[in-house]
Amino acid sequence: MMKLLKYILIVAVIGIILVSVLTRVPDVQDRLMFRFVQTLGGTTADLNDNSLSAVVCGSRSPLPSPGRAQTCVLVNAGGNYYVVDIGDGSAVNLNNWRIDANKIRATLLTHLHSDHISDLADLHLMTWINTSHSKPMDVYGPAGVELVTQGFEDAYQLDYQYRHEHHGDEIAPKDIAGFNPFPIDLSNPVIIDEDGLKVTAFKVTHDPIVPALGFRFDYKGRSIVISGDTIYDENLIKHAKDADVLFHEAQANHQLDIMRKALANNEGLVTILNDIETYHTTPVEAAKVANLANVDHLFFYHLTPAPRNNLTERMFFRGVNDIRKEWSSTKDGTMVVLPLDSDEIIVTEIN
Ligand SMILES: [Zn+2]
Ligand SMILES: [Zn+2]
Repeated sequence: MMKLLKYILIVAVIGIILVSVLTRVPDVQDRLMFRFVQTLGGTTADLNDNSLSAVVCGSRSPLPSPGRAQTCVLVNAGGNYYVVDIGDGSAVNLNNWRIDANKIRATLLTHLHSDHISDLADLHLMTWINTSHSKPMDVYGPAGVELVTQGFEDAYQLDYQYRHEHHGDEIAPKDIAGFNPFPIDLSNPVIIDEDGLKVTAFKVTHDPIVPALGFRFDYKGRSIVISGDTIYDENLIKHAKDADVLFHEAQANHQLDIMRKALANNEGLVTILNDIETYHTTPVEAAKVANLANVDHLFFYHLTPAPRNNLTERMFFRGVNDIRKEWSSTKDGTMVVLPLDSDEIIVTEIN
C-alpha cells in the first residue's frame, strides 16, 4: 500500500514538473491558445429559445460589490433578446457569456440613472461591429432618452468614424452607428408587440426621478415583470398581477443603518445613505408586493448593498422567509427559464 502511494506521488510530482516546463515552451503555448480560441469561437451561451427566459447581467446598484455589475436583465422571448438596463460592467458580462449580439432586438431603460445606462456605449459596440443588424439600435426609455442617446452619439462620434474607416462598411457600417431613441408615452403603454411578445411599460415611484418605469413581458402564456427602481408601489402590484416571475429591486435599509453608524466620520457618504433610503423597496416590502400581486416566484435584483458573502446575504433577506417562501436572490449570471406550454420555472446559472 505504502509502495503504491509512493509510486502515485512520484508520478504526480513528475506530472506537475512536466506541465510546468512544457507550458513555458512557446510552441506548446501557441497550440494551447489555438485550441482555447477555437472553443471560444464555437460556442455561445445556450439561452433556450423555446421559452421566455431572463438572465441577470447586472445585480447591483451603484454601491460596489466585487463580481457584480450594475443593473441589467436580458430577456429572451423565443430567440429575440431585449436588454433591460445596461449599467457599468453588464456589457462585459454579455460579452464574456458570448451572448449572440445578432439576436438583440432592443434596449429598454427603466429610468435614466447612471447605474442603468452607463454601458450603453459598449452594448452599442457589441451590436454594431461585425453583426447582421441593418439599423441603429432601438432604445426605449422614459422622456429624456433622446438626450442620453444623443450624448453617447456625440461622445463616440470620433470612435464611430475611426472604426468605420479602419474596418470598412462591411464590418462597421457608418449608416447604422448610433441609436434610435423611442421615448415612452404611458398613454400608449404597449411599447413592443412583435413575434408573439408584448412588452408593457408602467409607472413606478422613484421620486425625484420622474418618470421611472417598470416593464412587463408577456410571451405565449408566460410572463416576466421587472420593477426598475421603485418604492413599494401599488401600480407595480397591479401590473405584476398573476405573473410567473417578478424581478424586484431591494434595498436593505437595516444594513444601511449600520453602514451609516460605522462610517459616521464620512459626512458626505452618510448623507447619501440617508437620501437613498427613501426611494427604494426593502426586501420584506418586495416580498409583500409579490404576495399581493400573486406572482409565482420573486427574484431580488438591484441589491443595495449587494451581499458579498453568506453572512451579509442572510442579513439582507432578514424577515423575508416569514412572509414568503417562493423567492430567490440573484447574482450576475442567474438565469430563469419559463418553458412554453408549461408552468415550470427553472433557475439555473449561465457560465
Ligand atoms: Zn438604480
Ligand atoms: Zn435609480
